[in-house]
Amino acid sequence: MTDQAHKLIIIGSGPAGLTAAIYAARAGLSPLVIAGYEPGGQLTLTTEVEDFPGFPDGIQGPELMERMRRQAERFDTVFMNDAVRTVDFKNRPFTVWAGEQALKTRSVIVATGASARWLGLPSEKRLIGHGVSSCAVCDGYFFRNKEVVVVGGGDTAFREALYLAKLASRVTIIHRRESFRAQQILQERARKDPKISWCVPMWVVEILGENIVAGVRLKNMKTGEIKNVDCQGVFVAIGHKPNTEPFQGQLELDDGGYIVSRDGVGTSVAGVFVAGDVEDQKYRQAVTAAGAGCAAAMEAEEYLESL
Ligand code: NAP
Repeated sequence: MTDQAHKLIIIGSGPAGLTAAIYAARAGLSPLVIAGYEPGGQLTLTTEVEDFPGFPDGIQGPELMERMRRQAERFDTVFMNDAVRTVDFKNRPFTVWAGEQALKTRSVIVATGASARWLGLPSEKRLIGHGVSSCAVCDGYFFRNKEVVVVGGGDTAFREALYLAKLASRVTIIHRRESFRAQQILQERARKDPKISWCVPMWVVEILGENIVAGVRLKNMKTGEIKNVDCQGVFVAIGHKPNTEPFQGQLELDDGGYIVSRDGVGTSVAGVFVAGDVEDQKYRQAVTAAGAGCAAAMEAEEYLESL
């Protein structure tokens, strides 16, 4: 252990990382938050958050994250706007490489979250930024009075569709099954919106268009029938993958790449804790991530005291 080692590095700045920072800072651990490529995490890519307690009229995702960050800064949190490249959790103090720096620390909270998943089609890759997007809030404005499709049947797909319906002339939800996993309240709203319709059970075979999106080619999952749907925008909302590349070979991961937790927020390495969507495949809510961030900070404090 060297004198220069931080007490605690928190990797990630979504609800899990920022709540961990608030608790750790108030406990006197002077945490360093490495904020990552998407500071604020997935909530900065959403619009209205209606289910975070304490905001009866809802709150915009980016504003909620900005408030959490200010709350962490009010105490003794330092932020670094870099991404973590790799880590060494095998030697102590641990080393975290971020930007050009090798940072030493006695404990770590991994709260790197998850990022949007893509369909994996060559045509999708070619047309990202040319009509293909994973963020209606970021790109919806380009599709005013245009026809768009949203791929997926979960909460994200329905939220994206409802948002896009305010801008686009028509929104078609394309889903591989006939039933949706999105919350009933979102399904109800979509049903009532005259601009939204769905096309199920359909698989996207290809995104059409050479340099700009012109449509999608779909295959009916029951009949095998192929059909084309014209559109100018394709919003992919088929879930997320955990951001765990820097931790491969350092922490136990499951087959999907998620960090395997022990006793709540512990990991396979003592002194390294985990919180939020990088571990949680079930709830994946801002409030559950925040709760896990609080628990991780309290466990980190207890661990540091035990050293
Ligand atoms: P999700 O719930 O995992 O849904 C992903 C959807 O994409 C599913 O309908 C899935 O189909 C479909 N899908 C997956 N892989 C596909 C593929 N290769 N091709 C076509 N379709 C595919 O993901 P999410 O909607 O992003 O939500 C993630 C979490 O965030 C959830 O826990 C959700 O509740 C939460 N969230 C909450 C809110 C809110 O307002 N509270 C808003 C957004 C997200 P199947 O149904 O057939 O599996």
